[in-house]
Amino acid sequence: MTDRYAVIGHPIAHSQSPLIHGLFARETGQDLVYEAIEGPLAPAQGFEDMVRAFFAAGGRGLNITAPFKLRARALADDCSPRARLAGAANALKCEGGRILADNFDGIGLRRDIELNLGLPLAGRRVLLLGAGGAARGALLPFLEAAPAALVLVNRDVAKARALVAEVAEVAQLPAGEGAPLPAAAVCALQAVGYDEVAALGAFDLVINATSASLSGALPPLPSAVFRAGGSAYELAYGKGRTPFLQLARAAGVQGGADGVGMLVEQAAEAFAWWRGVRPSTTAVIDRLTVPLD
Ligand code: NDP
Repeated sequence: MTDRYAVIGHPIAHSQSPLIHGLFARETGQDLVYEAIEGPLAPAQGFEDMVRAFFAAGGRGLNITAPFKLRARALADDCSPRARLAGAANALKCEGGRILADNFDGIGLRRDIELNLGLPLAGRRVLLLGAGGAARGALLPFLEAAPAALVLVNRDVAKARALVAEVAEVAQLPAGEGAPLPAAAVCALQAVGYDEVAALGAFDLVINATSASLSGALPPLPSAVFRAGGSAYELAYGKGRTPFLQLARAAGVQGGADGVGMLVEQAAEAFAWWRGVRPSTTAVIDRLTVPLD
């Protein structure tokens, strides 16, 4: 019987996930269908009821997108350490009647940066803008890559500092419950406000994980954070050269990338988690990439 998968979000019409997973299924010869489902904003438990009904009817796996990622993590019976720290899940599956959650956004971002863009994070100074869901999801995968520094900068600096404290706590939990992080990785992490970041010098890689670009806005970032010849990454995609990427270019950054590769890589991680087969991503990324200029 053909296995059933879906993505739930609201709105969902724009989602590229059915196309991406359809291409993965064709390439790997997997017998599945993948649809987009508009999640309900009301009643209060409408989303949770929809997820449970999907699995009760034999559905095999779900991707979850905005605004339901926190609720997806909360409804799961168990979740990975990175989903726990993120407080959010973007993929669910059901095994033995238990709903399991994971969050592949951060590892998708890391794979795109390291494998597709050829920028290993180990030993690099990395600046991450934002302390929302996407930034939270990136923390564990990034720290596992052992950057020399990972600095979070956020308008609401208390939120970023609380996140750093949470990572330190998770890292101290016993194996299996917490994050397998060496102490040095946790020491590499700090949180600052936008008014403090210029004092930290230039970074090898600056990543915009804020939602500013969705409204054409620019975080209040001093251009001193960009290293000439360094790199910049914008999580939003399909927005062309955003004000953030324009600022990076003006500061001497070569190139710059948007989040299409991250989108495809997180999808490939979920596909492998569900199916036990890893699809290749290069042709799919090429197909979805829109030139920045
Ligand atoms: P959240 O709403 O969870 O977090 C938003 C963050 O952006 C907060 O840290 C907020 O700061 C900050 N922010 C918003 N506006 C501004 C501004 N004008 N200046 C500075 N900071 C600002 O969003 P997500 O984490 O879910 O998403 C962030 C981005 O990542 C979006 O562009 C989204 O499209 C993209 N994304 C891309 C994915 C991909 O696969 N490529 C996957 C997931 C997300 P504060 O806390 O101070 O309010």
